[in-house]
Amino acid sequence: MNATGRKAISTGKVRELAVQTPGIPASDGDGVRLTRIVGSPEIDMVDPFLLLDSFESDQPGDYIGGFPDHPHRGFETVTYLLAGRMRHKDSTGHEGVIEPGGVQWMTAGRGIVHSEMPEQENGLLSGFQLWVNLPASEKMTAPAYQEFPASEIATETLIDGQTLKVIAGITDQGTEGPVKNPHTDPLYLDVHLDPGKTFQQRVPESHGCFMYVIEGAVHVGEENAELPARTLGVLGDGNRIEVSSGDKGSRFLVVAGKRLNEPVARGGPFVMNTREEVLQAFEDYQQGKF
Ligand code: FE
Repeated sequence: MNATGRKAISTGKVRELAVQTPGIPASDGDGVRLTRIVGSPEIDMVDPFLLLDSFESDQPGDYIGGFPDHPHRGFETVTYLLAGRMRHKDSTGHEGVIEPGGVQWMTAGRGIVHSEMPEQENGLLSGFQLWVNLPASEKMTAPAYQEFPASEIATETLIDGQTLKVIAGITDQGTEGPVKNPHTDPLYLDVHLDPGKTFQQRVPESHGCFMYVIEGAVHVGEENAELPARTLGVLGDGNRIEVSSGDKGSRFLVVAGKRLNEPVARGGPFVMNTREEVLQAFEDYQQGKF
């Protein structure tokens, strides 16, 4: 805190940039081209987050195949669309279309089979898919959805030069996102900063935290480390973040969640605690138990 008390809000340790990566080109579903940012050989996971993919293309050949029927068990998938439309359909009869600015937070739990298909034949499709782990006690919970169109995502403009979309969690100014999740207590923000502005937000020490820059370079922490556009930054320990935009302004995601500190056994679309549980998931899926 300085003599004027201006930074009274800013007590504690600022999280510094620990690792950065642009991710690696990958293909999933029926030939959808994407960038795998978390869940790659570079960054295996950021507990409790198992995977982050970004997709952005105006070439139909990059996305038109979509993600036909496939299963999940043991975690949650979160789709956040920036542009384009995706139709989602699952084995329980649940169906809907995710539109720009909309979020689908799906708890796969004990298992669903679903398809995620582009609801367009041309134009830009852009967005993110995040996988959030579930604790051992919740991996076999009933499947559930939290779905919100752009109009139901909380928006905060309490601070000049800063606009936040709050998908999950609560901001320092008290704006609360619609997604609720007691298991990992997530924070999921889409932040727009005007040129030269600084964003601050408390993030509990118990939480793993990363940010992804969508547009404009930013500087992170008290060390002022530069993080360019289209780059993920994993943040180190601390209880708050501080991010400044350069002279062009910036847009970035901030994602944090309570670390589960549990063993992780992955098998494609299934993420459990042990190898045996993954094998059981494959067996249950093959026997049509989802
Ligand atoms: Fe899926």
